[in-house]
This record gives sequence, structure tokens and C-alpha cells, in this order.
Amino acid sequence: MGSYAPTKRTETSVTAGTRRADFVVVGAGFAGLAAAARLFAAGSSLVVVEARTRLGGRVETVHHEGYALDLGGSWIGTDHVRARTLVRELGLDTWPCHSDGATIVRDDGSRLDDRRYSILHPLATIDYRLASRRLDRMAQRVSPMAPWTADGASELDGRSLEDWLRRATRTERSRTTLRRTAANIFSSEPSEISLLHALFYIRSSGGLGPMLATTGGAQELLVRGGAEQLAAGMARGLEGSLELGAPVRRIVHGTSGVRVEADALTVEAAAAVVAVPPGTAERIEFEPELPADRSEVLRRMSPGDAVRMADVYDKAFWRDEGLTGEAWGPKLPFSFTHDVSSPGGAPGVLATFFVGERARPIRELSPERRREVALAALVDCFGDRAARPRAHVERDWGSDEWTRGGYCSSMTPGLWSRYGSALRDPVGRLTWAGTETATEHAGYMEGALQSGERAASEALALV
Ligand SMILES: Cc1cc2nc3c(=O)[nH]c(=O)nc-3n(C[C@H](O)[C@H](O)[C@H](O)COP(=O)(O)OP(=O)(O)OC[C@H]3O[C@@H](n4cnc5c(N)ncnc54)[C@H](O)[C@@H]3O)c2cc1C
Repeated sequence: MGSYAPTKRTETSVTAGTRRADFVVVGAGFAGLAAAARLFAAGSSLVVVEARTRLGGRVETVHHEGYALDLGGSWIGTDHVRARTLVRELGLDTWPCHSDGATIVRDDGSRLDDRRYSILHPLATIDYRLASRRLDRMAQRVSPMAPWTADGASELDGRSLEDWLRRATRTERSRTTLRRTAANIFSSEPSEISLLHALFYIRSSGGLGPMLATTGGAQELLVRGGAEQLAAGMARGLEGSLELGAPVRRIVHGTSGVRVEADALTVEAAAAVVAVPPGTAERIEFEPELPADRSEVLRRMSPGDAVRMADVYDKAFWRDEGLTGEAWGPKLPFSFTHDVSSPGGAPGVLATFFVGERARPIRELSPERRREVALAALVDCFGDRAARPRAHVERDWGSDEWTRGGYCSSMTPGLWSRYGSALRDPVGRLTWAGTETATEHAGYMEGALQSGERAASEALALV
């Protein structure tokens, strides 16, 4: 097992005492940093209070022998305009993620490439495609700005995605494929999320096709040196405003301002942008209490779950056999793999995801056993050369204190239609950011950026 090191990061320590600024931003993920950058650009003074000792939240890059490995958010999609603009402005380099060749499908004891799988199971393939198209068509009728206003919203919201896909598919195989695909997209199981939420999410990202595609889709580009550099880039010029390693415990808010308390540090400001995931926001004490609608949404969202691994090889050997490096299958312990090597394929890097219900069983194993199980499954898909990576790195997001979930949290049945915009509506001098509050590319880094910009504009308008 090779050595790996975290990305070189901004050195900061927490100030003890009270700081005063025009605005305070809670959380230095992409949403909080986008908000901070906008407030800073507007000429405001601000303090960013972050629980972790690094920037980037659900985006994290570590290094192995100088090669960057993303363990959280990594791909930038074709139409992720904010992320692409940011990459350009920061002078960072990207490359197209490898997608040439065949994908491995492991099913019923067989190892097939995706084309042969479709030929062998034509009914399931057609059924899956028809159901996906139906979902896409239904999503077209849902406004990403206000899903609760869609025709038949309460009926759509009263059902889970699982309930819908059980009825919409005719074969067990297509049902399983759609179920696994949905879990891979949401990092929650279809039984946990409302059908209306699934439609909102699909609509906010332009359809299932682009969400699942590499070239021309959400997995198009990787950032040379890792996606966490975008966080460092957004924080340029803000060094004096950053308070890292400062978990916010309490927020006191009133008509004229807010007070944010993070152990030894207190920040007083005219307004706040709160940019933390729903599951961790719920643990912050608000005084006065938040409106019941908002607390209820935070409490009842499904946080999702994700464990991501990276295995580094001398070269992307699977490319020699005409494989994409992607693999999935109902009987595998992992959810899916992806080739995230550099363009030349040296070193070769496979990213392995365990999401939704696949995360817990792997988390519960010892580190040695986890590695063994993951590598055995890679060997099963890609052959013996997968057995001995130069480095094996893991990141468990579901048990991370400051994430406690997967790529993003999702609305469970009944939340959208009952509570509408409660997740996003400002409360007095508090505005809310975070990829979960986005109306474009919710769940992605792009959504986080959009939400941060929106929340900053709302905060500026409040004072
Ligand atoms: C495994 C994985 C793979 C992913 N892959 C992709 C991908 O390829 N492409 C893509 O676009 N997106 C991807 N995503 C999703 C993407 O990473 C997120 O949508 C995005 O980073 C969320 O940003 P955010 O700012 O909304 O939240 P976060 O990144 O969670 O930021 C919130 C911040 O708040 C901090 N915080 C929490 N509680 C407190 C507190 N009490 N006090 C102070 N600070 C607090 C946290 O430490 C964190 O820094 C992936 C996510 C995961 C986990």
C-alpha cells in the first residue's frame, strides 16, 4: 500500500473571542465559498466559519506520489457552467474522463460487457429504456424552482420512487437495473425518496441521459490536480476571513442581526448564509427556534450514504482490453466503478463507489477486510491485475461528522408538497445555501455554487 497525503491547504487557526463583520458564512464547502466570494466581490466584510480544518466539504483531494485522487466530488459536467467558468478563471486544467470501450456487467454469475448484456436480455433492456424515458418525460412537467406546484404534485410526492418503478417496469431485471441506477444517482435508495423529488432532481440536471453520460454528460471532465483546488481558488483573497476548525454550535438571530457561536469564537454580523448539509444543520441550535416547517424538512430528509475508494495501478490496464473501467451489477458488493486515470492512463486509477444500501455493509468490515472485499470484486470484473494496486485509499462520507450522508440529501415522500420552499426561504436574517437548495444541478458541485450565489444575493438584499 503506497503512501498518500492530503492536498496542501490553507493554514489557519481559530480566533478566540468575538469578530464582527457585515456577513457571516457558516460552512466552507462549494456553496459557502461561492457565497463568500460573491459577498466579498460586493465589497462586504465577512467571516467564514468552518467545522473542518480544510476547505471544500464534500470535495476532497489527497495525493499519492504526486498524483491527485478525488475522494468526494470530482466530475464536472458538460453544462455545469459555473464550475467550468471557475476552472477557467482559476487557470486550472481539465481532461475528458475516459469512456471508450465496454462496461462490465456482473449478473447471475456471468461477466458480460454491456453490449452483450443488452443482446442477452432484450426485454429487460427495452423495458429499462422505456421506464427511463417515462421518468424523463414526467420530469419535464416539474418546475425545478417549485416542484410542489406541478400538476398532481401531492400524488407524485405521496409515492416513493420505488413504488413507481415497481409498477412502471415489467421484468425483475429491468427493475433491479433501474433501482441500482437510481441509487447511484441519488446516493439514497429509491424507497427513501419521493417520486416528485426524483423528477425535480432529474429536471434540475437536464434529464437522465446527461446525468448518466460521461462524454456530453455529468461525468465529462476531471480537474488536473483534483477538484479541491476549486475551493482553494474561491477562497483567494479571503484568507483573513477564514475560521477553520470551528464547528458552529449555536446561531442567535433577530431582526437586526445574527450571532454565530463556535466554541471559543463568536461572530456578530448583519446577516448569515448557512451553507451546511441538512443533517448537520439540524444539530445547530437556533435561537429563536426555526419555523416548524424548516426543522421538519431538515429532520426528515434522507441523507443518502456513500463510501468512495480509489485504487492506483501503474497503468490503466483495463483499457488494453477495450474496457471503460466502468463496472456494475446486482451481485457486486460495490455500486459502480469508474476510470479516473489521467489521459495517458498512467498511473491508472479506478474509483469505486458504495452508495445507498451498499455503503453500510462495507463500512461495517475491518479496514483489511474492506480492502480485500473491494479488490476481490475488482478482480472479478477486471482480472488479476486489479489485485495489487500501488495504493488503496478510502473515504467514508456517511460516518463523517460534518457530512453524515452521501452526495446529497433527498426529500422523502410528502416533504415537497407539504413544506414547499421551506428548505430555501430565508428566515429573518438567515439565508440558506447548499447543493440541496439548488434549482440547477441540485446534488452536484454546480448546484452548490448556484445555491451559494443565490443565498449571497438574498443576504445582500436583507441589509
Ligand atoms: C463520494 C461523492 C462523490 C461525488 N461526486 C460528485 C461529482 O463527481 N461531481 C459533482 O458535481 N458532485 C459530486 N458530489 C457532490 C458534491 O460533492 C456536493 O454536491 C457538493 O460538494 C456540496 O457542497 P455544499 O457546499 O453544498 O456542501 P458541503 O460540501 O457538505 O459543505 C458544507 C460545509 O459545512 C461544514 N459544516 C457542517 N456542519 C458545520 C457546522 N456545524 N459548523 C461549521 N461548519 C459546518 C462542512 O464541514 C462542510 O465543509 C459527490 C459527493 C460525494 C460525497
